[in-house]
Amino acid sequence: MNVAFVDLKKQYKEIKKDIEEAISNVILDAAFINGKYVKDFENSFSKKMGTKHCIGVSNGTMALYLSLRALGIKNNDEVITAANTFIADGEAISLTGATPVFVDNDPDTFCLDTNKIEKVINENTKAIIPVHLYGQPANMDNICELAKKYNLKIVGDACQAPGAVYKDRNVGSLGDTVCYSFFPGKNLGAYGDGGAVLTNSDELADKIRMTANHGRREKYNNEFEGLNSRLDGLQAAILNAKLKYLDKWNDRRIAIANHYDKELKDIVITPKVLKRVKHIYHLYVVKIENRLDLQKYLKNKGISTGIHYPIPLPYSNAYSFYKYVKEDFPNAYKDKDKILSLPIHGSMDDNEVEYVVTNIRNYYNRKNI
Ligand SMILES: *Cc1c(COP(=O)(O)O)cnc(C)c1O
Repeated sequence: MNVAFVDLKKQYKEIKKDIEEAISNVILDAAFINGKYVKDFENSFSKKMGTKHCIGVSNGTMALYLSLRALGIKNNDEVITAANTFIADGEAISLTGATPVFVDNDPDTFCLDTNKIEKVINENTKAIIPVHLYGQPANMDNICELAKKYNLKIVGDACQAPGAVYKDRNVGSLGDTVCYSFFPGKNLGAYGDGGAVLTNSDELADKIRMTANHGRREKYNNEFEGLNSRLDGLQAAILNAKLKYLDKWNDRRIAIANHYDKELKDIVITPKVLKRVKHIYHLYVVKIENRLDLQKYLKNKGISTGIHYPIPLPYSNAYSFYKYVKEDFPNAYKDKDKILSLPIHGSMDDNEVEYVVTNIRNYYNRKNI
């Protein structure tokens, strides 16, 4: 038996009719750039996440960059983000000319350790990007309190968390803007690149929409230099068709996670979830000592796993010039050799889940003999 880490072919077979109809509509209407299908998706996504505006953009990295730029982040500013995240957060900050300032993760939730934020804030600090990592909301009470105290903007990174909830609020409204990626393997994935920015601010929405579309509201009436960073019509129509299934897929992920918790909690460190949050398990990450050995064992049994991320951002070559040492981000440094992401996705069936559980249990039983 083979268990894929994500199975987009299986997902496609389940929703083939919706997808084919969506694609053919766009082509028949020749609505490839902006147009009806982009609008439709923007409307349904903002409605579902509970914000006033949604701006479809080309990918999650650009959603972050466009947000920071619209908030006026520039040279010599500093923006705080997580050490344990995908490089897009660092890239978006650097693209504005500002400096990324990394903060260690909480060893239990893997999200930003909010106790370590205040000591890196100085007069250049302008914004913070809380990353809702693996699908779990960051501790937004603490982050909002710090943002208020020091007058910082908040740009949420919900690329792994479409549908996650923090204390009765969808994470999509927790920030000046909140950013999404529709990379194919995300909980809501396009068939190519895609992204979105959510905001309740009319002014930010207008700025971001114009910047992503050559600095204009109407064709050839360019008010400033923007860039081309639009969500295209085909991806928008595909996303709109898939959006109907997002709750079902997220619920399936949660059910699988609950089963993994129950079956594995006595042998590995299973994910800790904050009180009153809805974690939507983009990734199900356990902590273990002999990670590579278990990963190899599972691979031989046909089970794919992942590591998110093997090198915390500050230690990657891209940021080697900052010369960070292990004491700078001790939790991220320790966790990097222990974390293992197990297969989890909306189309995974009970047999596959059971096969993963059985093989992990067999691995440890074998070791104990
Ligand atoms: C996927 C992802 C992004 C970037 O998304 P792209 O669409 O690939 O540019 C940013 N942040 C996090 C946490 C992500 O997982």
